[in-house]
Amino acid sequence: MTYSDELLNIDKRHIWHPYSAMGSDLPVYPVVSADGVRLKLADGRELIDGMSSWWCAIHGYNHPEMNQALNEQLNRMSHVMFGGLTHPPAVELARQLVDITPEPLQTVFFSDSGSVAVEVAMKMAIQYWHAKGQAKRQRFLTVRCGYHGDTLGAMSVCDPVTGMHSLFSDVLTKQFFVEAPTCHFGGPCQTDDIESFKQALLENKNEIAAVVMEPIVQATGGMNFYSAEYLQRVRQLCDEHNVLLILDEIATGFARTGKLFACEHADVAPDIMCIGKALTGGYLTLAVTLTTKIISDAISQGQPGVFMHGPTFMANPLACTAALTSIRLLLASPWQDNIKRIEQGLLKGLSNCCDDKNVQDVRVLGAIGVVQMKQNVDMKTISEKFIESGVWLRPFGKLVYLMPPYIINNDDLTCLTQAVTNVIRC
Ligand SMILES: *Cc1c(COP(=O)(O)O)cnc(C)c1O
Repeated sequence: MTYSDELLNIDKRHIWHPYSAMGSDLPVYPVVSADGVRLKLADGRELIDGMSSWWCAIHGYNHPEMNQALNEQLNRMSHVMFGGLTHPPAVELARQLVDITPEPLQTVFFSDSGSVAVEVAMKMAIQYWHAKGQAKRQRFLTVRCGYHGDTLGAMSVCDPVTGMHSLFSDVLTKQFFVEAPTCHFGGPCQTDDIESFKQALLENKNEIAAVVMEPIVQATGGMNFYSAEYLQRVRQLCDEHNVLLILDEIATGFARTGKLFACEHADVAPDIMCIGKALTGGYLTLAVTLTTKIISDAISQGQPGVFMHGPTFMANPLACTAALTSIRLLLASPWQDNIKRIEQGLLKGLSNCCDDKNVQDVRVLGAIGVVQMKQNVDMKTISEKFIESGVWLRPFGKLVYLMPPYIINNDDLTCLTQAVTNVIRC
């Protein structure tokens, strides 16, 4: 038996993969190393990564400066508890994040994953209203087709259909949902487009702690790019009716859409913002919930006088170092021009898909390319074909999408888009 077969046998018998069934015949592929934009499989094949490991690995893999910074931190201290202690990586990262995020966001809460950052955001909103003597405000308003994570609170604001709310009906809080934005990115938002949102807000505002949304790009829930004016209207309505706005930038943050944060397309600032995924350049798991001084002061001065959350691995020094280094690399690079280059490459490379009979829509924003098929793709065959073409892509449902590492060169980008064009044609 080859090494690869041995790994796969044990994997198949004992390990759950994301959203998977044990005993499933969907393949998994053993990766033994990764460098730049290439993943190396146990059988020696190399694949060009079109996924950035789910939005994360923006500088590619095995990056020399990232490795060096992490090695140095490892030799100083890999972890220390955050209760009653602090350390340079956390402090420097917090200062950096306060600097680069919208101005009103001034306080930083560290956690381990995106889902938890969303839980923390929701708890902040609830505790804020509690402190303000409006303890009834414990529910959230959101749009359909959103995705905010897999823990119960985060799930409650995910799309009710794709998030399978029916399975968990007795434990999930019933939130308020309106239709997903139908006005597209680059276009206007008409009065009608925002009407159902406005109605839901007006009718339920005394119960609503906050609106929760992904800014501009609804990622996992359908790769929907919506109008910046819609987000502006949401911000205005939240202000008019005194409701907080939580923006989930976990997928969109760190330049993926062409702005450092997607809310900048609309020039709006949230009251609470979640970041994760690309935060550490894909090296380690870390997420952050940022909020305003108004909210953190209210929570701190209200009852019980503390914010009720504190993960064991809060502000892990290695993860903070990875984030700090990743942000420095990004800011030191000509990232605006680079994302434009990738956007152009995706537009050009995917343009041939547009007139394919199986294709519903092709859209590109920043370093995100989406080919929406008319039918669901067959995961097993399409994955095998991509691997045979030397690329790593992982479609879901009707969506074949690309979000390559920012360091990808034009030739490798062309390989990715050509693989997509060829594979969906047959
Ligand atoms: C991935 C994602 C999450 C969840 O992050 P995890 O790290 O997987 O828990 C939340 N919100 C958005 C927008 C995401 O894309």
